[in-house]
Amino acid sequence: MTQTAPDPAPLPSETLAVLIVGAGFSGIAMGIRCLQEGIGPFLIVDKGDGIGGTWHENTYPGAACDIPSHLYSLSFAPKSDWSRLYPRQPEIAAYLRETVAAKGLGPHLHLGTRVDAAVWDEAEGLWRVETDRGPLRARALVSGMGALHHPAIPAIPGRDDFAGKSFHSASWDHGCDLRGKRIGVIGTGASAIQFVPLIAPEADRLVLFQRTPPWVMPKHDRPMSARETSAFRRLPLARWLFRQRLFWIHELRALLGFTKVSKLTAQAESLARHHLRKAVPDKALRDRLTPRYRLGCKRVLVSDDYYPALTRPNVALESGGIARITPAGIVMQDGTEHPLDVLIYATGFDVGASLSRVRTVGRGGLALSQAWRDGVGAFQGITVSGFPNLFLLMGPNTGLGHNSMIVMIEAQVEHAIGCLKALRKAGAKAIEVRPEAQARFLAEVRAKLADSIWTTGGCTSWYLDAQGRNTTLWPGSVLAYLRGARRPRLRDYRLS
Ligand code: NAP
Repeated sequence: MTQTAPDPAPLPSETLAVLIVGAGFSGIAMGIRCLQEGIGPFLIVDKGDGIGGTWHENTYPGAACDIPSHLYSLSFAPKSDWSRLYPRQPEIAAYLRETVAAKGLGPHLHLGTRVDAAVWDEAEGLWRVETDRGPLRARALVSGMGALHHPAIPAIPGRDDFAGKSFHSASWDHGCDLRGKRIGVIGTGASAIQFVPLIAPEADRLVLFQRTPPWVMPKHDRPMSARETSAFRRLPLARWLFRQRLFWIHELRALLGFTKVSKLTAQAESLARHHLRKAVPDKALRDRLTPRYRLGCKRVLVSDDYYPALTRPNVALESGGIARITPAGIVMQDGTEHPLDVLIYATGFDVGASLSRVRTVGRGGLALSQAWRDGVGAFQGITVSGFPNLFLLMGPNTGLGHNSMIVMIEAQVEHAIGCLKALRKAGAKAIEVRPEAQARFLAEVRAKLADSIWTTGGCTSWYLDAQGRNTTLWPGSVLAYLRGARRPRLRDYRLS
C-alpha cells in the first residue's frame, strides 16, 4: 500500500538553484542528477501525500505497467530483484520510495505542497513561485508534473444523481466493498482492462460500457526466475544486457515504421484478432470487441486476462451509447436500463490540465497559455522560448506508445542538467531556447506527424488536441529523440 509522509517542514526562504515540481519518476530522476552534479540547493515539491506521482495515486486493483520493469526503471538506480516481468503498482511505488531513501533525496522533498503559479522575475533572474504553503524563489524551475493525473469524468446527463457509490479509477475507493454488487464500469482504456478482470469475480454482475473497442495484444507476463534475479545481483552486466534487450525489442517497432499505416499494421492486427478469437468463442461478442480503426491509432493495450473476463457469465459488454445516468443506474440510448450499485469511471485524464493549472508567466509578462494559444509545443519538448530557466519533463510531443517513458525522461533530465551546467560555467543568470531553434524543431515534429497513424488511422484519442493536432506523442524512435535531446547544443540557446 501507499505510504503517507509526515507533515512537511517549513518551506525554505533562501533562493533555490532548482525547484522541481512533482515527486514522480521525472522529479525523482531530476533530483538524483542534481545531487550527483552538486547543483543546489534544490527542492522537490508535490501536491500529493506520497512519493511516486501517478504510481502513488493509481492504486486500483491490478494497476501495473505495460513496459517490463527492468526497462521501466531508472538506469542510474537499477533493481535486480523485480518480482515480475511487468511490475505492479505497489512494487513500482515501493521502488520509487526506496530510491528516494537510498539516494538521500528525503531532505529535499516537500510533499503536500501544491504549486499554483510561477512568475519569471526578469530583474532578479529567478522564478517567483506561489504554493499553497507559501512562496518560493528558484533560479530554475523544472516541471515533473506529468500529464495523467487530473481525472476526466465525462459530463453524462444525470451524473450527479447516481445514488450508489461512484469513483474514478485514479482515486479508487478502497473502502467500497464490491462483493456481490452490481458494478458499472465506463471506459475500456489501459486502466479498465487491468482492473475489470480482478473485480469481475467478486461482482454479482459487472456491466462494461464500451464506446470504442481497444486493440489488445498478448502480455505474456511472468514472474522473474530465481536464476535471473541471482544472475542480475551478481553480474550487473547481465542486468544491463537484459535491459538493453528489452529496449531493442520495443524500439524495433519504431525502427520498422510503426508511426504510419503499413504492412506491419496489418500483421499486428491479425495477431490481435487471433488473440481475441482464442479467448472469445462467441462471434457476436467478438464482433463488438473488434476495433474499426487501424491498430496503433489509439494506445495499443496488452492483457492476457481482459478478454477471458468478458466471457464470464456475470459480465456484460454494453456497446450502445449511454443516454443518461439515473439514481438507480444507467439508461442506454435504446432505452435499456442497467441497475447499478457502484459506478466506476475508467474514463482517463484531462491531459491539457496539468500545465495549464499552474499559472506560468515568463519574460515580459507572457503567460504560457498565451504562448501556446496556437498550439502547445516546446523545443525537444523541454524548453520554451520566452521562459528562461524553465524545463519541462514529459513535456509536449514526448509521449511514447512503443517504449519506456523512463528512457525519454532520463534524456530530458540530462538536457536540463546540461543547460544548468552551462549556466554555472558561464556565470550567467538565464538560459533560454532561441525562438528559431524551437520553430525549426516544431516544424520537423509537425511534418512527421502530418500523415501519422494517430491522425490517419480512423480514430480520435487523447493524443490529439481540440484542433486535432497531436501534441502528446513523439513521432519517431527513442534513438532519434536521444540523439537530438540528450545533450543540449549551446547554439540553440541564449545565455544572459
Ligand atoms: P484512456 O485510455 O483515456 O481511456 C478512457 C476510456 O474511457 C476510453 O475507453 C474512452 O472511450 C472512455 N470514455 C471516455 N469518455 C467517455 C464517455 N463520455 N462515454 C463513454 N466512454 C468514455 O484512460 P485510461 O485507461 O485511464 O488510461 C489513460 C492513460 O494512462 C493510458 O493511455 C496510458 O498512457 C496510461 N496508463 C498506462 C498504463 C500502463 O500500463 N502503462 C496503465 C493505465 C493507464 P473512447 O476510446 O471512445 O474515447
